[in-house]
Amino acid sequence: MNQKNQSFPFHLLLAVFILFFVIKLFVNKPVIPIFGFHGILPANTPTSQLQNMHYPEKDLEKILEHFVSNNYWFLTTQELYDYFLKKQKKVPKEHSSQKPIMISFDDGYKTVHTNLLPILSKLENKYGKKIKVVLFINPGIMERKESTSTHLDCQELREGLKKGFYDIQSHGLNHKNLMTLTRRELVKELQQAQIKLRQCTQDLDPQQQVASHLAYPYGASNKQVRHYASKYYLSTYLYNDKILDYDCKQNYYEIPRIPVNRQMTFQQMLEIAEGFQQDKSLQKCEAK
Ligand SMILES: [Zn+2]
Repeated sequence: MNQKNQSFPFHLLLAVFILFFVIKLFVNKPVIPIFGFHGILPANTPTSQLQNMHYPEKDLEKILEHFVSNNYWFLTTQELYDYFLKKQKKVPKEHSSQKPIMISFDDGYKTVHTNLLPILSKLENKYGKKIKVVLFINPGIMERKESTSTHLDCQELREGLKKGFYDIQSHGLNHKNLMTLTRRELVKELQQAQIKLRQCTQDLDPQQQVASHLAYPYGASNKQVRHYASKYYLSTYLYNDKILDYDCKQNYYEIPRIPVNRQMTFQQMLEIAEGFQQDKSLQKCEAK
């Protein structure tokens, strides 16, 4: 009787141990959260102009600072493709202990230049590490005169690229829903976006990494869209609130992303990034 009582705590200990490893297994799932932002809301934005699709500057700085100070690896689209999708290259040693993540901004809002770029520089000075962000850009909108106050221009794009902060990729020429286009229009949206983005960045991008990947405007794609996208781009991104499980056999033309709007809190984003994505489901995929 006495002995039985003594062994009880050991069983409990064992149970705790098993639980710990189960949790660890769950946390270490081969997932990469890919966040999709739009513009940034400066701290002094009047309440009447608080658009939901944009994200508050202070919160953005807080989450980026958390990621950079906690040894996250800010993936570029090419790195995700090489190391986690195609898996043709081995993860370099300097990244092997890091947690991969991708931070993307769609549509090329001016606030990326005026409000995000200064944060990236500030954090680089503070931590000695460079945060890479992916920008999915519509060069057709970039060129329109009437949008120069709301959207990035080529010079601003080049500035962030030169400083090594931007991974500049395609979001189609004019942000059209690609599912609604004729084949001819579809090809134009895909091809011209690539040509124009590369024209803007030519001398800074000798390996032509700019506009090698695409995010579908509105996340909208079908078989025909994916077929033509695959002729011009190595991989393409959705906007579907799912998390990438890179252990699966990948379809390079349906990479999941998590939309981030004004309502998403620092804590929610943190939980997704850390792997506690209770309310987020993994992208369905075929086993390898
Ligand atoms: Zn968009």
